[in-house]
Amino acid sequence: MATAAATATAAALATGRFDAARARADFPILAREVNGRPLVYLDSAASAQRPRAVIAAVDHYETHLHANVHRGVHTLSQAATEAFEGARERVRRFLNARSTKEIIFTRGTTEAINLVAQSYARPHLAPGDEILVTWLEHHANIVPWQMVCAATGATLRVAPIDERGELRFDEFQALLSPRTKLVATAHVSNALGTVLPVKQIVAAAHARGIPVLLDGAQAVAHGGADVQALDCDFYAFSGHKLYGPTGIGMLYGREALLREMPPWQGGGDMILSVTFEGSTWNDLPWKFEAGTPNMSGAVGLAAAIDYLEGLGPQAVHAHEQRLLAKATAAALEIPGLRIIGTASDKAAVLSFTIEGIHPHDLGTILDHEGVAIRTGHHCAMPVMDFFKVAATARASFACYNVDGDVDRLIAALHAAREVFA
Ligand code: PLP
Repeated sequence: MATAAATATAAALATGRFDAARARADFPILAREVNGRPLVYLDSAASAQRPRAVIAAVDHYETHLHANVHRGVHTLSQAATEAFEGARERVRRFLNARSTKEIIFTRGTTEAINLVAQSYARPHLAPGDEILVTWLEHHANIVPWQMVCAATGATLRVAPIDERGELRFDEFQALLSPRTKLVATAHVSNALGTVLPVKQIVAAAHARGIPVLLDGAQAVAHGGADVQALDCDFYAFSGHKLYGPTGIGMLYGREALLREMPPWQGGGDMILSVTFEGSTWNDLPWKFEAGTPNMSGAVGLAAAIDYLEGLGPQAVHAHEQRLLAKATAAALEIPGLRIIGTASDKAAVLSFTIEGIHPHDLGTILDHEGVAIRTGHHCAMPVMDFFKVAATARASFACYNVDGDVDRLIAALHAAREVFA
């Protein structure tokens, strides 16, 4: 697969354009039909598909390497440990973290944020303290803070957005105060695609000594993240949004902060010693990885990162932006269509409504045409409330989408309008 990726990159360099058709051929599921039509998959913001390289890496692990990690002297245990810790090093390089001590494997973004809420925020919060989020958050970056606020008497504050779905940065800054103990914000909004000004957010918070968590679930596959350049304190993402498996994700944490944080789950692997009188904790990062981890998932995630970097994240990003621009222009020609989220800097997400058609009906009609989009509140109900809609239809683009996918989407939307005319 590295070969296919390298070929696609070479082709992109030769033509000046990323060869998405070649990338598409790396994803076996995209060869299937849905409702008698070739599948057009436009739901990658919910979960991206996996290339053969990821499927093969997981298969290789399961077929040749699997045993429990860290505590075995036998050959397979050592091989599994090497594969698992090798995957950690791969994630470290991808994020440009300083050390693998800063890379904690989790089930995904949600678990990573809950870890910070329970292990970092909870011990730091007292009544009157505040956690600051934005109006653009996924529920995974709202509910864990509500839970920790309820347990400590702290308050959740929300920085507002404007009609385009952009953060009102002045108001965000005005909400920073000595009471603010943590800023937690999306890097990219899943509901609208808005890319948040995360460097400025981090700088403004750090100027007041406030740490920042970035929810990178929607960012890492569309331009990546360099945690040293961002200067964030925590960064979370999920493997399945990055062409990797489900059930694996990670939390980056600044080592100095992780050292001070207590473990949040107890069990095997996170301890150095256990007696009935008490236990002592393992070193970083294992202090935060209680129980048998998801080894095959980690291996698959490392393969997904290899795959994406083989394609060239910048070439992929430029390709997705071109598809977004094409889809946006064509969508605006459809009578009654309203685009929700028109930020100047957007990831390849097109959220919209069509007058007189419920988004769920739209999703069903498109599915009959073999076009998979997402409809609903996208786990971002406050964003829906802001725009006074119950739901939107959302098409999201990835490395394997081609111009023909945009054409099929637009044709299906025109057809849907006719059904309801
Ligand atoms: N944050 C954002 C911005 C997301 O888009 C998602 C998933 O859609 C999540 C968090 C939660 O990710 P997961 O369900 O993989 O934990």
